[in-house]
Amino acid sequence: MYYECEEEDTTNHVTGFVTTVVGSYPTKPDVSNVYALIKGEKDPFRSAIEEAIKDQVNAGVQLISDGQVRADFVTLFVRNIPGFKVRAGRPIVVDRITPPEKPTTLDDYIFAKGIAKRDVKGIVTGPSTLAYASVVDEKAPYKSNDDPELIYDIADAQAMEISALMKAGAKIIQVDEPVFSVGVNVEIGIQAVNKMIEAVKTPVVHVCGDVRNIFKKLLELNVSVLDHEFTNVDNLSVIEREAIEARNIQIGYGCVDSNDIRVEPIEVIEKRIRSAVKKLGAENIWIDPDCGLRNLTRKAAFAKLSNMVKAAKNVERGIK
Ligand SMILES: [Zn+2]
Repeated sequence: MYYECEEEDTTNHVTGFVTTVVGSYPTKPDVSNVYALIKGEKDPFRSAIEEAIKDQVNAGVQLISDGQVRADFVTLFVRNIPGFKVRAGRPIVVDRITPPEKPTTLDDYIFAKGIAKRDVKGIVTGPSTLAYASVVDEKAPYKSNDDPELIYDIADAQAMEISALMKAGAKIIQVDEPVFSVGVNVEIGIQAVNKMIEAVKTPVVHVCGDVRNIFKKLLELNVSVLDHEFTNVDNLSVIEREAIEARNIQIGYGCVDSNDIRVEPIEVIEKRIRSAVKKLGAENIWIDPDCGLRNLTRKAAFAKLSNMVKAAKNVERGIK
């Protein structure tokens, strides 16, 4: 048993694997009507969000995102959070970080939910990832980009984002912390994330990369789902069914490669899913790609999601 919809859910699945995406999707803004763009009459990213939703729904993905189409997942947030400046594409911490007056992703979230007419996952980039992606200016009140004060201040800013998304109806919120897998101070990072997700009904934390050395620590996150990549890294080898069940945590099982444009055949994905089912139990996994699909072509992204959903359904049929 994998997922039971609540009455208010508008998804058409009753039971089965939760299929989802990590977040970003490669649809591009519509810049065809330059006149309307200059006059500010048209938001070129709205059509990109619509297309991202259409593709995810048509591929059969159950829990979708707004596609994170406006910018990469660092720039998207830092350009809106007071205390950050973006210079030559690089985030610089120039002052104390405070929550933005207007949430970064709320308008897109509401727009996406309105056209999708179903649950949409709220997604925020985690404080450690935003901090480590930045340079700290000497005038800023932080010692360096690993200063715990900086990480906690960014966590407060992103907690406001989460709270706005929850008010707009988001039950599932994902925090992206890929930087956890590259040797940062995970203890501080986990404390910061745990504080942000206290009130979230279904919190998910995404950490791609090699998590074999940190997985035990990641179990200290108060999450419903830990989401990782498995296609190119044997992260499955360190995850034990007893350990995740003891913490009531499910695993977001990344089973299509988000960096390789070659679309995996359904049977290949099925085989990957079966190995996770065998080790962790079907009830303990969600199905998704390794990471965001932003770096692929739209055609490849759609084909990967379609094959992923078909593979998940084939595995489901084998279990029932
Ligand atoms: Zn990732």
